[in-house]
Amino acid sequence: MRKKIVAGNWKMNTNVDEGKKLSQEICEMIKKKPLKTIYGSPGVILFPPFVHIIEIAKIIKDVEGVFVGAQNCYSELSGAYTGEISAPMIKSAGATHVLIGHSERRKLFNESNKMLAAKTSFAIENGLNVVFCCGESLEERENEIHFEVIRRQLKEGLFWLDIESFSNVIIAYEPVWAIGTGKTATPDQAQQMHAFIRELIAEKYGKELADSFSILYGGSCNAKNAQQLFEQEDVDGGLIGGASLKAGDFFKIIQSF
Ligand code: PEP
Repeated sequence: MRKKIVAGNWKMNTNVDEGKKLSQEICEMIKKKPLKTIYGSPGVILFPPFVHIIEIAKIIKDVEGVFVGAQNCYSELSGAYTGEISAPMIKSAGATHVLIGHSERRKLFNESNKMLAAKTSFAIENGLNVVFCCGESLEERENEIHFEVIRRQLKEGLFWLDIESFSNVIIAYEPVWAIGTGKTATPDQAQQMHAFIRELIAEKYGKELADSFSILYGGSCNAKNAQQLFEQEDVDGGLIGGASLKAGDFFKIIQSF
């Protein structure tokens, strides 16, 4: 059975106290309605800013099915890389996951598929699970090259991993035109792309792994549209930005399966 996952990308929002409060609220709601009854593990992954991780790891510790991750990591273990954070550091703070290749990182920080491949490798070698983001721009969709774009992002960023490493990856399909815009992909558009991604995984790693692999949708997913998206056969959950900053909305999304 494929794991159902809802992940919250808080981006550069909340200070430490606000982040602790938000994660406490989410955990309280989950404790009242434990995730085990809804998902196989992992269920919920919170991606706060780096500086919150230690505190949030303590808050989620005893809440079954809730994990904390970092929004980025560097592709070296340690050394003269001022301002960067490595996978072992993230792990030592209590995180289990890391987001790699978010479109904001690709666009604003010029992260190439090659760099993302290196980051993914270091993260997995150092014991983190990777949520790897891919997605096409509006122009690429309008030019009908979106399938090609995703194929290339996955081939160059991920598909050189061996099967054992690849099983530590979750893919998030996030069309760039849907992120933070209020313009969500239709359930059909999401399903089409997720089925395509699953086919690519099957070609590369075999049907068995593809069938058990979690593919999340991201891009203006909210408490109102989550259910329709999650109902699609190949949509195994969501990576949520804006709507993950309100505990009540995020919890509704968690309950949308
Ligand atoms: C994201 O940042 O990954 C995201 C999906 O954002 P939003 O839900 O706000 O579109």
